[in-house]
Amino acid sequence: MPDCEVASMNDKARKETILSGMQPTGKLHLGNLEGALRNWVRLQDEYWMYCCIVDWHSLTEVYADTSELKESVFAMAVDFMAAGLDPEKCAIFVQSEVKEHAELHLIFSMLITVPTLTRLPTYREKKDDLSLDSYGFLGYPVLQAADICIYNAHKVPVGKDQEKHIWLAKDLAIRFNQTYRKVFVEPEPLFTPIPLILGSDNRKMSKSLNNHIPIDFTEKETEKRIKSYYTDPKKVRKGDPGTPEGCPIYLLHQLYTADAADKIAPPCRTGELGCVDCKKQATENLNVALRPIRDRRAELVKQPDYVWDVLATGRDRATQRAQSVMDKVRRAMKTDYRYKKR
Ligand code: SF4
Repeated sequence: MPDCEVASMNDKARKETILSGMQPTGKLHLGNLEGALRNWVRLQDEYWMYCCIVDWHSLTEVYADTSELKESVFAMAVDFMAAGLDPEKCAIFVQSEVKEHAELHLIFSMLITVPTLTRLPTYREKKDDLSLDSYGFLGYPVLQAADICIYNAHKVPVGKDQEKHIWLAKDLAIRFNQTYRKVFVEPEPLFTPIPLILGSDNRKMSKSLNNHIPIDFTEKETEKRIKSYYTDPKKVRKGDPGTPEGCPIYLLHQLYTADAADKIAPPCRTGELGCVDCKKQATENLNVALRPIRDRRAELVKQPDYVWDVLATGRDRATQRAQSVMDKVRRAMKTDYRYKKR
C-alpha cells in the first residue's frame, strides 16, 4: 500500500499505482476527454491514482511566455474534476509543487546517454519546429521517467505514441536498481482502446489547429463548430450516397448516438440522410452527453478556493509519497548524509 493514501483509498482491491499526467496547455477538448480523462475516471476506482498537471513539461515547448500558465493549471484542475476525477479517490496536483520530480530527474539524467535521447522519434519529429532546441526538451522523457518512478507507479495509461517513453522509464528504473539497490518498480504502459476523435478539418483534434471542441464550449458554439466540420466530399447534397467510414461526424455518432451503425450509417449510404441533418443530430447528442460535465464545470469555476484547496491537498499527498521514495533513493546511493548540527 502506498505511503500516502487518499482518505477513501482504503479499498483492498487497489494494489497498484498509476501515474497520469497532462500538460496544462489550455482548456481541455473532446479529444482529451475521450482519449484520456474518461479512462482515468474508470481507473481511479481500481488503482492508487496520481493525476499530475505537468506544468514543467509545458515549458519544454513554450518556455518564454508563462503569463497564462496559472490560468491553464486552474482550468485543467476544473476540467479534471468536471469530467469525474474525484479528489477523494485520487491525488490531483501540480508537478512543479512536488520538487522531488526535479531531484529524481537529475539523478536519472546521469544514467542515460545523449544519443539514446536524440534517437527518440518524438525528439526527431519535433526538434525542427521548436523555437529553441533546448536541453530541457531533449531531456523531457527523463523528467517523464522521474514523474512516474517518484511514485513507484506500476502503470502509466498512454497512447501508442508515448510507448517508447514508458520503456525508457522502465529502463531507467532497471538501470538505477542494478547500479545501486532495488528501489523502483518497473513501470509498464497501460494501453486501453482510445476512440478516434477528429477535428473539424479531419485531422487529429488539437487546440493549436483550432479544429477542436473545447469541453467548455456553449451548446451554440458546439453547433457552430460541428457545422464547419469536414464530411464526405462526394456527398454534396441530400440524396447523394455517402461513406460514413472516414467521416469525422460519423465518428462522433459512434460515441454519442445509440445504435449509430443502424441509425446513421445505412441512411448516409443510401443518401436518405443529408449531412446537415446528420450534423444536427450529432450536435444534439454531443450536447446532451456533455451537459453534466459542463454544468459541473460551471459550478467549479465559481469556487476557485475549493479548486486550489484540492490541488494543495493533492500536492501534500503526492509529496508524502515522493519524499518516501526519494529517501530510499538517497539511502541506495549513500547520499543520505546526516550532518551533526554545528
Ligand atoms: S451523412 Fe453524416 S456520416 Fe454521412 S457523410 Fe454526411 S455527415 Fe458524414
